[in-house]
Order: sequence, then structure tokens, then C-alpha cells
Amino acid sequence: MKIGVLAIQGDVSEHIEAVKRALENFDVSGDVLYIRKKEQISRLDYIIIPGGESTTISRLMVNSGIYTEILKHAENGELGVIGTCAGSILMAKDVIDDKRVKTLGLMDMAVRRNFFGRQRESFETELDIEGLGKYHAVFIRAPVIDKCWDGCRPLAYIGDKIAMAKEGSFVALIFHPELTDDYRIYKLFLNL
Ligand code: GLN
Repeated sequence: MKIGVLAIQGDVSEHIEAVKRALENFDVSGDVLYIRKKEQISRLDYIIIPGGESTTISRLMVNSGIYTEILKHAENGELGVIGTCAGSILMAKDVIDDKRVKTLGLMDMAVRRNFFGRQRESFETELDIEGLGKYHAVFIRAPVIDKCWDGCRPLAYIGDKIAMAKEGSFVALIFHPELTDDYRIYKLFLNL
């Protein structure tokens, strides 16, 4: 199993370390790779798009050709894509009130950037995740998934909004799984 972490901006090394520890933890062998070039994409089973700044990540993805390459392999079913925080924005068909981010549009969902505003830019809370149960989640200037339609299914809620959703082998999380040491969530979205 080959898992890449998109390494152009954001909290990349934290994800690399967390995936390595998750694989060890569940006794699954695999390679975890920093992805900086479009040529690396075709060898992957999964790519994780980390948190960071979605405007910057999308611009650099498009300029490097990584954007087109991810879409190609994702749409023909060879590549699973997981977006966390800023990465979840890139998974969405629609970004409400902000058209600056060119998203991959892989999931039938609409997101709002920086939803939790200034007072609660960063916070932690317990979620109830389908297929996993109670989970302690870290939010940093998080977006929110406003709605899902068609093939997109909510897996966790925060208030009346959505915190995690899945569509086939595409998953979006508005929080930061790489910042906690509860690896069950990696097991869930990487099908370990
Ligand atoms: N606020 C960032 C954005 O909209 C996301 C924050 C994060 O990834 N921690 O791109």
C-alpha cells in the first residue's frame, strides 16, 4: 500500500508521522511518501491533502500539474483522496461565498471556509463518528461542510453541520486527525 501526503504547503510532516504510526499500530506494511511532483501520483493508492491554506494549496496544485493528475486517477477509481481541514475544502463541489479556491470537486458537498470565526478559531471537541464512535477532534480555523447531496454521506456532525463525510474512496474531515494519537480514524479512511 502506498500512501502519499501532498507536500506543497501545510502540516505535511505531522501527517507523514501519523500515517507511519497508524500503519505500525495496525501492523500494515506500506510506504508513506511526500508528494511534490505530478509524476509521483500514478503510483499511489491514497493521497492525503493536509490542512494549511486552501487558496495557496489549490494554486500550487494547479500550477504544478498535480491538480489534473489527481483528478485523472481519482475519477478512474485508482486513487483514494482524503482531505483534512483545508484539504476538505478542496474535495468539495462548491465553496459557499468564496470562489477563489479552485477545488477538485470530487465530493457532492458544499463547504464554508473559516466557519467558526475568530473567538473559536481553534478548539477541541468530542465527535460521534459513524463506524468509529466517540472521537476527540482538533479544529484549527476550520471550514464546515454545509451540506452533502447524491453520493456524499455525512459520517459525523458538529451541531447541525457536518464534520466528516465520505463518497466512495473520497473522505473529507474538517478537523486535524494528525494532531491526536487516536489512529482508529486512519484505519477507517485508509481501509487498513
Ligand atoms: N482556514 C484555512 C482555509 O480556509 C483552513 C485552516 C486549516 O487547514 N487549518 O484554507
